[in-house]
Amino acid sequence: MSNQNENQKDVKFADFPLSETIHQSLDQAGFERPMPIQAACIPPALEGKDVIGLAQTGTGKTAAFAIPIIQRLANKMELGALVLAPTRELAAQITAVFNELGKSSGLRVATIVGGVPMDQDYGALRSWPNVLVATPGRLNDHIENGRVLLDEIEILVVDEADRMHDMGFIPQIRRIIAVLPRKRQTMMFTATMADDVERIARKNMRDPVRIQIGICAPAHRAKQEIFELSEDAKRPLLLKLLRKSTGRVLVFVRTKRGVDSLTRIVNARRLKAAKIHGDLEQDHRDRSLADFRSGHCPILIATDIAARGLDVSGIEHVINYDFPHNAEDYVHRIGRTARVEASGLATSFATLADRRFVNEVRKLIGDKLPKPTRLEGYATPSAKAMSEKKTRGRYVPNRRSRRRAGTANKSA
Ligand code: ADP
Repeated sequence: MSNQNENQKDVKFADFPLSETIHQSLDQAGFERPMPIQAACIPPALEGKDVIGLAQTGTGKTAAFAIPIIQRLANKMELGALVLAPTRELAAQITAVFNELGKSSGLRVATIVGGVPMDQDYGALRSWPNVLVATPGRLNDHIENGRVLLDEIEILVVDEADRMHDMGFIPQIRRIIAVLPRKRQTMMFTATMADDVERIARKNMRDPVRIQIGICAPAHRAKQEIFELSEDAKRPLLLKLLRKSTGRVLVFVRTKRGVDSLTRIVNARRLKAAKIHGDLEQDHRDRSLADFRSGHCPILIATDIAARGLDVSGIEHVINYDFPHNAEDYVHRIGRTARVEASGLATSFATLADRRFVNEVRKLIGDKLPKPTRLEGYATPSAKAMSEKKTRGRYVPNRRSRRRAGTANKSA
């Protein structure tokens, strides 16, 4: 496996055998130089080789597979490429990249995702697409009812394979691969190589070129801070940060219900927040994203899965209201800010119970993770005090429990 970051620095798009129209679209999109994953992925992909890209979102991987697909399929009649994505939002973003870079080359893209009326899919499929971007569940529905024919597929892309795995999509992906022509090119992108993902790759890919883009790339760009605090102190601190902030803020919460209740609370304080999680209707999710993108709601409160792969530019601040239980999720979340050239801030709240997760992240990205700060007035009881509380029942950690204990005072 090669980390091609270093020696790919001087590569230009002009170095690749791409059509003039693609070069023009790249210019229009403001893409001057290929990002490392593009520099590493485009040449083998153009040759038809299988590719495994180990990279986070935000590293430019969509264009890394879209550009070679556009080059190879533009002006063809057949449905030649299938791109599988874990979420509807990601599918929409991938479609947007294909349209931006491929439309003037004559490429036709259709999107098939769950949560929208089936009629819409039929319309999309009748438009003679060259590229189909789909979430696995809905695509399988169409395969089963015979509405989509995939026997001309030359190129399969599985994007965010690790997240597909986390979401339980691996059996669906197997079923889809089973109906594709065996002779095809397969490209798979994933942030981590879970066993199941490795198995799928080994079984379905031929001698893939492996490309690894540094896992902590987003962490280099975003300034990070961690506050150690009690669960009770999170909400007031969040409200304080939100009141101070001037740009777009993305807040991560662990559960869907947590997203619902925090959004209610934030909006009740006259701060404008939209929400996004997996239980919301597609319409609602689209509206939330549009409101966040347009700045109508400068705050977006989201769960990991829903926010994964969001490409919203100009997110200045990511707040981990709940510290992620999975170290890679931390890197993904803070990758939402400081995309490409911009710089941003990532603030994490960590309770005592989160200490081990903070340590996991430190193991993954090392010293780039700052030491947790205990805020004056929001301080968590120290581990020692907690143990005193346990053993002697004397320690009262916060105002609410003091009140309960009848010892509240104004200075608390
Ligand atoms: P990923 O698919 O890895 O999440 P994206 O393809 O969404 O990453 O790219 C991240 C951001 O970088 C997007 O806003 C995209 O428009 C931009 N981008 C991608 N490639 C380039 C490039 N070569 N030059 C400048 N910006 C780019």
